Amino acid sequence: MKLFTRRAGTSHRMRRALSLPLIACLGLSLSLTGCSSSDSGHKIRIGIKYDQPGMGYQDGKEFTGFDVDVARYVAKKLGYSENQIEFVESPSANRENMLANGQVDMIFATYSITDSRKKTIDFAGPYYVAGQDLLVRADEKDITGPDTLNGKNLCSVTGSTSAKKIQDKFAKQVNLVNQNSYSDCVVALNGGVVDAVTTDDIILAGLASTKANRGKLKLVGKTFTTEKYGVGLPKGSDKCEAINKAINEMVEDGTWQKLVEKNTAGTGYSYDASKNPPKPTGGCA
Ligand code: GLU
Repeated sequence: MKLFTRRAGTSHRMRRALSLPLIACLGLSLSLTGCSSSDSGHKIRIGIKYDQPGMGYQDGKEFTGFDVDVARYVAKKLGYSENQIEFVESPSANRENMLANGQVDMIFATYSITDSRKKTIDFAGPYYVAGQDLLVRADEKDITGPDTLNGKNLCSVTGSTSAKKIQDKFAKQVNLVNQNSYSDCVVALNGGVVDAVTTDDIILAGLASTKANRGKLKLVGKTFTTEKYGVGLPKGSDKCEAINKAINEMVEDGTWQKLVEKNTAGTGYSYDASKNPPKPTGGCA
Protein backbone atom coordinates (compact mmCIF):
# COMPACT_ATOMS: atom_id res chain seq x y z
CA MET A 1 0.00 0.00 0.00
CA LYS A 2 2.83 2.32 0.93
CA LEU A 3 4.58 1.49 -2.33
CA PHE A 4 1.44 2.19 -4.29
CA THR A 5 1.04 5.60 -2.66
CA ARG A 6 4.61 6.53 -3.44
CA ARG A 7 4.23 5.52 -7.07
CA ALA A 8 1.02 7.46 -7.44
CA GLY A 9 2.77 10.50 -5.99
CA THR A 10 5.59 10.21 -8.49
CA SER A 11 3.27 9.97 -11.43
CA HIS A 12 1.32 12.97 -10.13
CA ARG A 13 4.50 15.02 -9.98
CA MET A 14 5.38 13.87 -13.45
CA ARG A 15 1.99 14.90 -14.73
CA ARG A 16 2.54 18.39 -13.35
CA ALA A 17 6.08 18.65 -14.60
CA LEU A 18 5.43 17.56 -18.15
CA SER A 19 2.86 19.04 -20.43
CA LEU A 20 0.53 16.53 -22.05
CA PRO A 21 1.81 16.90 -25.61
CA LEU A 22 5.33 16.35 -24.37
CA ILE A 23 4.30 13.11 -22.66
CA ALA A 24 2.57 11.98 -25.84
CA CYS A 25 5.67 12.66 -27.93
CA LEU A 26 8.25 11.39 -25.45
CA GLY A 27 8.82 8.07 -27.19
CA LEU A 28 9.53 9.66 -30.54
CA SER A 29 13.28 9.76 -30.46
CA LEU A 30 13.37 5.99 -30.19
CA SER A 31 10.39 4.99 -32.26
CA LEU A 32 8.09 6.35 -34.88
CA THR A 33 5.05 5.81 -32.74
CA GLY A 34 3.44 8.36 -30.50
CA CYS A 35 1.81 11.62 -31.33
CA SER A 36 0.43 12.22 -34.77
CA SER A 37 2.61 14.22 -37.10
CA SER A 38 0.01 16.83 -37.92
CA ASP A 39 -0.63 18.20 -34.43
CA SER A 40 2.88 18.40 -33.05
CA GLY A 41 5.11 19.55 -35.88
CA HIS A 42 7.82 17.16 -34.71
CA LYS A 43 10.58 16.01 -37.02
CA ILE A 44 11.45 12.59 -38.31
CA ARG A 45 15.19 12.09 -38.58
CA ILE A 46 16.20 10.11 -41.64
CA GLY A 47 19.73 8.83 -42.15
CA ILE A 48 21.10 9.12 -45.69
CA LYS A 49 24.47 9.30 -47.44
CA TYR A 50 25.73 12.79 -48.31
CA ASP A 51 28.33 11.96 -50.96
CA GLN A 52 26.83 9.30 -53.22
CA PRO A 53 25.56 11.14 -56.32
CA GLY A 54 22.24 9.72 -57.57
CA MET A 55 21.63 7.85 -54.29
CA GLY A 56 22.12 10.19 -51.32
CA TYR A 57 23.79 13.49 -52.03
CA GLN A 58 24.04 16.87 -50.32
CA ASP A 59 24.06 19.67 -52.85
CA GLY A 60 24.19 22.92 -50.86
CA LYS A 61 20.98 22.89 -48.86
CA GLU A 62 19.35 20.34 -51.15
CA PHE A 63 19.38 16.59 -50.84
CA THR A 64 19.06 14.46 -53.97
CA GLY A 65 19.18 10.83 -55.03
CA PHE A 66 17.10 7.69 -55.21
CA ASP A 67 17.38 6.91 -51.47
CA VAL A 68 16.35 10.47 -50.63
CA ASP A 69 13.35 10.30 -52.98
CA VAL A 70 12.24 6.91 -51.64
CA ALA A 71 12.62 8.24 -48.08
CA ARG A 72 10.41 11.24 -48.89
CA TYR A 73 7.77 9.00 -50.48
CA VAL A 74 7.70 6.59 -47.53
CA ALA A 75 7.74 9.38 -44.92
CA LYS A 76 4.76 11.00 -46.62
CA LYS A 77 2.85 7.71 -46.52
CA LEU A 78 3.65 7.50 -42.80
CA GLY A 79 2.07 10.93 -42.31
CA TYR A 80 5.09 13.24 -42.35
CA SER A 81 5.18 16.36 -44.48
CA GLU A 82 8.29 17.40 -46.37
CA ASN A 83 9.29 20.02 -43.79
CA GLN A 84 9.08 17.52 -40.94
CA ILE A 85 11.94 15.52 -42.43
CA GLU A 86 15.40 16.15 -41.07
CA PHE A 87 18.13 14.41 -43.05
CA VAL A 88 21.16 13.24 -41.09
CA GLU A 89 24.39 11.91 -42.58
CA SER A 90 24.80 8.18 -41.89
CA PRO A 91 28.19 6.84 -43.02
CA SER A 92 28.34 3.09 -43.64
CA ALA A 93 30.22 2.29 -40.43
CA ASN A 94 27.87 4.28 -38.16
CA ARG A 95 24.44 3.09 -39.33
CA GLU A 96 23.60 0.36 -36.79
CA ASN A 97 24.85 2.54 -33.92
CA MET A 98 22.90 5.58 -35.06
CA LEU A 99 19.68 3.53 -35.04
CA ALA A 100 20.46 1.86 -31.73
CA ASN A 101 21.31 5.22 -30.07
CA GLY A 102 18.19 6.92 -31.37
CA GLN A 103 20.20 9.45 -33.42
CA VAL A 104 17.97 8.65 -36.42
CA ASP A 105 14.48 7.12 -36.77
CA MET A 106 15.02 5.43 -40.14
CA ILE A 107 17.90 4.94 -42.57
CA PHE A 108 17.73 4.96 -46.37
CA ALA A 109 21.41 4.70 -47.31
CA THR A 110 22.26 1.95 -49.83
CA TYR A 111 21.85 -0.25 -46.76
CA SER A 112 21.99 -3.97 -47.52
CA ILE A 113 19.79 -6.31 -45.50
CA THR A 114 22.11 -8.82 -43.81
CA ASP A 115 21.70 -11.39 -41.04
CA SER A 116 24.51 -9.88 -39.01
CA ARG A 117 22.96 -6.38 -39.10
CA LYS A 118 19.57 -7.89 -38.23
CA LYS A 119 21.00 -8.91 -34.86
CA THR A 120 21.00 -5.26 -33.77
CA ILE A 121 18.48 -3.51 -36.02
CA ASP A 122 15.36 -4.22 -38.10
CA PHE A 123 14.90 -3.75 -41.83
CA ALA A 124 11.77 -3.00 -43.84
CA GLY A 125 11.91 -3.58 -47.57
CA PRO A 126 13.75 -4.34 -49.77
CA TYR A 127 13.07 -1.41 -52.12
CA TYR A 128 16.00 -1.98 -54.51
CA VAL A 129 18.40 -4.78 -55.44
CA ALA A 130 21.97 -3.87 -56.46
CA GLY A 131 25.10 -5.96 -56.98
CA GLN A 132 28.74 -5.41 -56.03
CA ASP A 133 30.99 -4.35 -58.91
CA LEU A 134 34.36 -2.70 -59.53
CA LEU A 135 35.23 0.82 -60.65
CA VAL A 136 38.56 1.38 -62.41
CA ARG A 137 40.34 4.12 -64.38
CA ALA A 138 39.18 4.39 -68.00
CA ASP A 139 42.51 3.08 -69.35
CA GLU A 140 42.58 0.03 -67.07
CA LYS A 141 43.06 -3.23 -69.00
CA ASP A 142 44.03 -5.86 -66.41
CA ILE A 143 41.13 -5.65 -63.97
CA THR A 144 38.13 -7.40 -65.48
CA GLY A 145 36.53 -8.94 -62.39
CA PRO A 146 37.16 -9.77 -58.72
CA ASP A 147 39.45 -12.68 -59.66
CA THR A 148 41.83 -10.33 -61.51
CA LEU A 149 42.78 -8.26 -58.46
CA ASN A 150 46.00 -10.12 -57.69
CA GLY A 151 48.48 -7.72 -56.09
CA LYS A 152 46.21 -4.73 -56.69
CA ASN A 153 45.24 -1.98 -54.27
CA LEU A 154 41.48 -1.98 -53.83
CA CYS A 155 39.47 0.67 -52.01
CA SER A 156 36.23 0.15 -50.15
CA VAL A 157 34.44 1.53 -47.10
CA THR A 158 34.68 0.50 -43.46
CA GLY A 159 31.50 -1.19 -42.22
CA SER A 160 30.22 -2.04 -45.70
CA THR A 161 29.26 -5.45 -47.08
CA SER A 162 31.57 -4.60 -50.00
CA ALA A 163 34.70 -4.49 -47.82
CA LYS A 164 33.63 -7.63 -45.95
CA LYS A 165 33.12 -9.56 -49.18
CA ILE A 166 36.68 -8.77 -50.28
CA GLN A 167 38.07 -9.65 -46.85
CA ASP A 168 36.20 -12.97 -46.82
CA LYS A 169 36.76 -14.06 -50.42
CA PHE A 170 39.75 -12.29 -51.92
CA ALA A 171 41.92 -11.24 -48.96
CA LYS A 172 44.91 -13.33 -50.07
CA GLN A 173 45.33 -11.61 -53.40
CA VAL A 174 44.16 -8.09 -52.67
CA ASN A 175 45.52 -5.17 -50.69
CA LEU A 176 42.33 -3.72 -49.27
CA VAL A 177 42.37 -0.04 -48.39
CA ASN A 178 39.39 1.07 -46.33
CA GLN A 179 38.10 4.64 -46.36
CA ASN A 180 35.13 6.31 -44.66
CA SER A 181 33.24 6.93 -47.88
CA TYR A 182 33.20 5.92 -51.54
CA SER A 183 33.92 9.47 -52.66
CA ASP A 184 37.19 9.25 -50.71
CA CYS A 185 37.91 6.00 -52.58
CA VAL A 186 37.34 7.76 -55.91
CA VAL A 187 39.86 10.44 -54.94
CA ALA A 188 42.35 7.63 -54.25
CA LEU A 189 41.53 5.99 -57.60
CA ASN A 190 41.96 9.21 -59.57
CA GLY A 191 45.21 9.89 -57.74
CA GLY A 192 46.65 6.47 -58.56
CA VAL A 193 46.79 5.48 -54.89
CA VAL A 194 44.47 2.52 -55.54
CA ASP A 195 43.75 0.53 -58.72
CA ALA A 196 40.03 -0.07 -58.18
CA VAL A 197 37.07 0.81 -55.98
CA THR A 198 34.49 -1.77 -55.04
CA THR A 199 30.89 -1.43 -53.89
CA ASP A 200 27.38 -1.67 -55.35
CA ASP A 201 27.03 -1.02 -59.08
CA ILE A 202 24.44 1.75 -58.70
CA ILE A 203 26.73 3.69 -56.32
CA LEU A 204 29.74 3.32 -58.62
CA ALA A 205 27.68 4.40 -61.66
CA GLY A 206 26.67 7.61 -59.88
CA LEU A 207 30.23 8.38 -58.85
CA ALA A 208 31.64 7.66 -62.33
CA SER A 209 29.24 10.01 -64.07
CA THR A 210 29.84 13.21 -62.12
CA LYS A 211 31.22 16.12 -64.12
CA ALA A 212 34.63 15.73 -62.50
CA ASN A 213 34.93 11.99 -63.17
CA ARG A 214 33.17 11.54 -66.48
CA GLY A 215 35.40 9.84 -69.05
CA LYS A 216 38.09 9.16 -66.44
CA LEU A 217 36.52 6.11 -64.78
CA LYS A 218 34.60 3.03 -65.89
CA LEU A 219 32.61 0.23 -64.28
CA VAL A 220 33.84 -3.30 -64.90
CA GLY A 221 30.21 -4.38 -65.23
CA LYS A 222 30.24 -7.88 -63.74
CA THR A 223 28.38 -7.95 -60.45
CA PHE A 224 29.34 -10.64 -57.96
CA THR A 225 26.88 -10.22 -55.04
CA THR A 226 23.19 -9.49 -54.44
CA GLU A 227 22.57 -6.41 -52.28
CA LYS A 228 19.00 -5.93 -51.14
CA TYR A 229 18.51 -2.36 -49.95
CA GLY A 230 16.36 -2.16 -46.84
CA VAL A 231 15.04 0.62 -44.65
CA GLY A 232 17.04 0.49 -41.41
CA LEU A 233 14.91 0.75 -38.25
CA PRO A 234 15.56 0.39 -34.53
CA LYS A 235 15.23 -3.19 -33.26
CA GLY A 236 11.65 -4.06 -32.38
CA SER A 237 10.16 -1.46 -34.72
CA ASP A 238 6.46 -1.76 -35.43
CA LYS A 239 6.80 0.19 -38.69
CA CYS A 240 7.97 -2.54 -41.08
CA GLU A 241 4.55 -3.42 -42.38
CA ALA A 242 3.50 0.19 -43.02
CA ILE A 243 6.80 0.88 -44.80
CA ASN A 244 6.51 -2.29 -46.91
CA LYS A 245 3.01 -1.23 -47.89
CA ALA A 246 4.31 2.20 -48.94
CA ILE A 247 7.09 0.58 -51.01
CA ASN A 248 4.60 -1.68 -52.79
CA GLU A 249 2.39 1.33 -53.52
CA MET A 250 5.41 3.20 -54.86
CA VAL A 251 6.03 0.35 -57.33
CA GLU A 252 2.36 0.01 -58.30
CA ASP A 253 1.73 3.72 -58.92
CA GLY A 254 4.78 3.98 -61.20
CA THR A 255 6.81 6.17 -58.84
CA TRP A 256 9.55 3.56 -58.27
CA GLN A 257 10.27 3.35 -62.01
CA LYS A 258 10.24 7.13 -62.41
CA LEU A 259 12.60 7.65 -59.48
CA VAL A 260 15.11 5.02 -60.64
CA GLU A 261 15.15 6.52 -64.14
CA LYS A 262 15.43 10.10 -62.88
CA ASN A 263 18.32 9.32 -60.54
CA THR A 264 20.33 7.14 -62.94
CA ALA A 265 19.75 9.32 -66.04
CA GLY A 266 22.97 9.96 -67.95
CA THR A 267 24.97 7.30 -66.08
CA GLY A 268 24.55 4.51 -68.64
CA TYR A 269 23.43 2.30 -65.75
CA SER A 270 20.30 0.21 -65.87
CA TYR A 271 18.94 -1.86 -63.03
CA ASP A 272 18.82 -5.64 -63.11
CA ALA A 273 15.23 -6.27 -64.19
CA SER A 274 15.43 -9.92 -63.10
CA LYS A 275 15.70 -8.73 -59.48
CA ASN A 276 13.87 -5.38 -59.59
CA PRO A 277 11.59 -4.01 -58.43
CA PRO A 278 11.61 -6.24 -55.34
CA LYS A 279 8.36 -7.00 -53.55
CA PRO A 280 8.57 -6.71 -49.77
CA THR A 281 6.09 -8.87 -47.91
CA GLY A 282 4.82 -9.18 -44.36
CA GLY A 283 6.71 -7.65 -41.45
CA CYS A 284 10.40 -6.90 -41.08
CA ALA A 285 12.82 -8.46 -43.58
N1 GLU B 1 25.13 -1.95 -49.78
C1 GLU B 1 26.38 -2.13 -49.13
C2 GLU B 1 26.27 -2.00 -47.61
O1 GLU B 1 25.23 -1.80 -47.10
C3 GLU B 1 27.45 -1.19 -49.64
C4 GLU B 1 27.05 0.24 -49.73
C5 GLU B 1 27.23 1.06 -48.47
O2 GLU B 1 28.26 0.91 -47.79
O3 GLU B 1 26.35 1.86 -48.18
O4 GLU B 1 27.23 -2.12 -46.90
